[in-house]
Amino acid sequence: MKYYGEDVFSEKAILKHMPKTVASKLIATMREGKPLDPSIADEVAHGMKDWAIENGATHFTHWFQPMTGGTAEKHDAFLEPCGPAQAVQRFSGNNLIGGETDASSFPSGGLRSTFEARGYTAWDPTSPAFIKRHENGATLCIPTAFCAYTGAALDMKTPLLRSIQAVTRATERLMKKFKKPKAHVSITLGAEQEYFLIERSFYLKRPDLLQTGRTVFGAAPAKHQQLDDHYFGAIRPRIIKFMSEVEERLWKLGIPAKTRHNEVAPAQFELAPMFEDLNLAVDHNMLIMEVLRQTAEANGLVCLLHEKPFEGVNGSGKHCNWSIAYGGRNLLSPGDNPRDNAIFLTFLSAVIRAVDLHSDLLRMSTAGAGNDHRLGAHEAPPAIISIFLGDELSAVMKEIETGHAEKKTGRTAMKIGVDTMPPIPRDATDRNRTSPFAFTGNKFEFRAPGSSQNCALSQMVLNTIVAESIDAICDKLDAAGGDFNEELQKLLQRLIRKHKRILFSGDGYGQEWPKEAEARGLPNLRTTLEAISPLENAANIALFSKYGVLSEGEMASRHEIAAADYSSRILIEGKVALEIARSMIRPVVADEFSRLATAIGRATRDGLKVGIAGLRALSLKLGAGLDDLHVKCEKIEKAIAKGSPVAILREMESLRKTVDKLETLVDDGKWPLPKYREMLFIY
Ligand code: ADP
Ligand code: MG
Repeated sequence: MKYYGEDVFSEKAILKHMPKTVASKLIATMREGKPLDPSIADEVAHGMKDWAIENGATHFTHWFQPMTGGTAEKHDAFLEPCGPAQAVQRFSGNNLIGGETDASSFPSGGLRSTFEARGYTAWDPTSPAFIKRHENGATLCIPTAFCAYTGAALDMKTPLLRSIQAVTRATERLMKKFKKPKAHVSITLGAEQEYFLIERSFYLKRPDLLQTGRTVFGAAPAKHQQLDDHYFGAIRPRIIKFMSEVEERLWKLGIPAKTRHNEVAPAQFELAPMFEDLNLAVDHNMLIMEVLRQTAEANGLVCLLHEKPFEGVNGSGKHCNWSIAYGGRNLLSPGDNPRDNAIFLTFLSAVIRAVDLHSDLLRMSTAGAGNDHRLGAHEAPPAIISIFLGDELSAVMKEIETGHAEKKTGRTAMKIGVDTMPPIPRDATDRNRTSPFAFTGNKFEFRAPGSSQNCALSQMVLNTIVAESIDAICDKLDAAGGDFNEELQKLLQRLIRKHKRILFSGDGYGQEWPKEAEARGLPNLRTTLEAISPLENAANIALFSKYGVLSEGEMASRHEIAAADYSSRILIEGKVALEIARSMIRPVVADEFSRLATAIGRATRDGLKVGIAGLRALSLKLGAGLDDLHVKCEKIEKAIAKGSPVAILREMESLRKTVDKLETLVDDGKWPLPKYREMLFIY
């Protein structure tokens, strides 16, 4: 494809824009993920600037991912005045490598006091620079990590990079035990992105969508997703035009957008890229979300990335497909060579152990006000984290656990590293859509992360806990010292016995599961405030410190930020709900009620024989709704004044019942908000 990657400072562009020696040093740096040699920084910057200017850029920015969940950029022109009415375009090595920025308005969770407001951005050469275009220009974007003067991480990226290092080292250590020659370790991520698209003119009439990203009111339409007729359905022309534009922009940015389709809920869609190196895939997912939003706007649509924009239909997730490759070979691919199977089973067991010991941390990584509406509801993964392996692998695990082959395989003993595993066809892992953490043939698919969340957090947790498990396995093998294969077999058997409670192939939505999970001792952290508590747990703090991923202070700051974000969002939702109820809904209902009252009075005076009963019945319903509305608005106002998220959520839910009922009673022409049956179907 000719234009693929044309907006990226790729190896091709590097070779074209700088001397060969500098280019090859830079390329090596990027491939190995080492810091840039300062002695070539000026020449690299010079080449990068030339390339950017050639592509229409006038400005550059350090592009980073603060703890707001989004991305941040502050543009500087290449411009440097050099005399009266004269200027040149400059961009130095220092401009490239690092930046200093006033960080006082980014959330830091107490890591930085306002008098030490400086924040520093540092180029992460493993993610190439790229160009963002707008209608009449372009900006050179340099992906960076963002930290405080003390070095404490103020972003999502820094801990992610540290965690990649941790799991890479652990993988190298384990592969050495399998006598494999040293090779490049790559952690891979394919993030499937779900989203809604609605007509922009509807969006503009919904203060709740505008301010919170979700509808706080809206009666269920008669038809929504009951017929399953949207999933994989023919894509409408307006949408396919939008999707094609998105893909063109993404492909220019070197983002391998691959799959597009209609999702389960009406007006819901999905975009899945090919998997890439984790760090790059995270950056690319942030860009995908941005391109989706902007392209929607250009098409008179709005892209909703909220986890639950509409009650009663499916919410949106971000399935994070994760694996480890060694020398380009996927370690989670079962394969059919016995020796390699032992490697596969060892890594698989490491993940099982990690998820069982730290399911609370994985749950933490998906916490948020938006995702609370999704996790634990009946269409999304439950808040209880468990692993689905599929029939074949479950049988293999059973064999390891008992030491006996299942009858149907015709073998008597299961011996790792010696015996041949039953071949596992990739698609034999049947799909259990109710599982939050599923093995899907050659990778794990973590389905709990929300559609709007930065995948860096969940991936950082996964890397760290798996690193710890791999290390624990290595430690045990070191201590054992006997025949390697036998020791490994014994070890895996112990691991499976100990951690099998995390394996669950049943229905994750079923009513029985929470009870069974409780009996198994698995945590069920239902809402954000519970789910973020593992950040304060001493053992977890020790784990992240041990791997140098997050210090105690950084953990505490993340807890503080998550809690504050949650409270702020709920408070905003409560205020929006109150405002809509009082200033948009109540006047309409009151008008209709008084019209009815007048009509009833007149009809009675005129001695009409029919119609009065109907008018009365309706006015009674509207009157009761009006009274309810009043009482509930007062209650929500009190909850807001108290600032209690729990109370606000409770009162919002109660207020919603009244408003949604009124929606079905009031004159359709007068209802002030676009309805679900319009927003979800007219686009
Ligand atoms: P699904 O049916 O769930 O959409 P796919 O096979 O299409 O499954 O894969 C979904 C995502 O998983 C894609 O982004 C794909 O690139 C990614 N993926 C495939 N293999 C790997 C891997 N080894 N590591 C990480 N992600 C992977
Ligand atoms: Mg999938």
